[in-house]
Amino acid sequence: MLEDVIIIGGGPAGLSAAIYLARANLKPLLFAGSPPGGQLTLTSEVENYPGFESILGSELIEKMRNQAKKFGARIMDENVLKVDFSNKSNKTHLTNKTYLSKSIIIATGAKALWLGLESETRLRGKGVSTCATCDGFFFRGKTVTVIGGGDTALEEALTLTKFAEKVYIIHRRDFFRASKIMQERVKENKKIEIIWNAVVEEIIGEKHVEAVKVKSQKSKVKSESQNLKVDGVFVAIGHKPDTDLFKGHVELDEKGYVKIFERRRTSVTGVFVAGDCADPYYKQAVTSAGTGVEAALEVERWLEKI
Ligand code: NAP
Repeated sequence: MLEDVIIIGGGPAGLSAAIYLARANLKPLLFAGSPPGGQLTLTSEVENYPGFESILGSELIEKMRNQAKKFGARIMDENVLKVDFSNKSNKTHLTNKTYLSKSIIIATGAKALWLGLESETRLRGKGVSTCATCDGFFFRGKTVTVIGGGDTALEEALTLTKFAEKVYIIHRRDFFRASKIMQERVKENKKIEIIWNAVVEEIIGEKHVEAVKVKSQKSKVKSESQNLKVDGVFVAIGHKPDTDLFKGHVELDEKGYVKIFERRRTSVTGVFVAGDCADPYYKQAVTSAGTGVEAALEVERWLEKI
């Protein structure tokens, strides 16, 4: 059977595309991965998605899935193992089956990089976050720290100064790789204090973040680790787009993001892209959803022409 459209990815981008394509009677088939849901399922409350004053990320995803299904989208919580876009009908391989489709929307998202500490995983959503825009609001009048030295880290720190009383930036070097203008803004901001040449060894707290254990990189002496009292930890050490599956099938940029040629089109005709896997900058649920809609509209127009 030749499907009109297959969507790969079950976050806000893929699901928004599915809602639009289902309402256009195109019966999209969406592979949401296993376990399903993108970055949103890792956050706790979402307060910046228009129409929802406060909703759990997982609940928002569930609502999108139900909305897509209601209009006829078919959602399978399975991982795509391989793709082949070399023929007119694109092939999407699962473990035990291969699906053919006239068009594809890639919406596999990106993952925030983590430090890899046990305490970081345990306290995720309990004071540990990778998104100041999403979670900064919960730290009004509190003390937080950002980890990292790139544009994202500095932007997160500046965002956090709107809420927090005090913002530390802990960076493992004695210089930032972020743009000069961001560096100037950070240095001028009185709420921000930079801790250079330091790494976080552990995040301390039982039910929520209480402090971080900071070790100076310059010192080789173990006893020089110090506890810094903070209420929140924002890890901002970069993102990795989930695009390994598409290497050699569509053009990716040097960091692995899918290249957009024109209006959500990739380097391959009939293959479109939406969401964070093509977006190194905004990475918001609502921007992802918007690009999902754009991709859906482009697919619709493209299917009418072929
Ligand atoms: P990035 O530029 O790769 O910076 C990541 C930072 O995290 C670096 O300072 C790195 O340290 C640090 N880091 C990496 N792994 C670490 C670890 N395990 N422990 C501690 N620190 C670690 O990533 P990004 O800041 O997310 O930026 C990605 C791209 O998006 C960049 O091109 C950036 O310019 C762009 N961006 C632009 C804007 C804007 O223009 N408004 C905003 C955000 C991002 P080292 O420096 O030691 O390597």
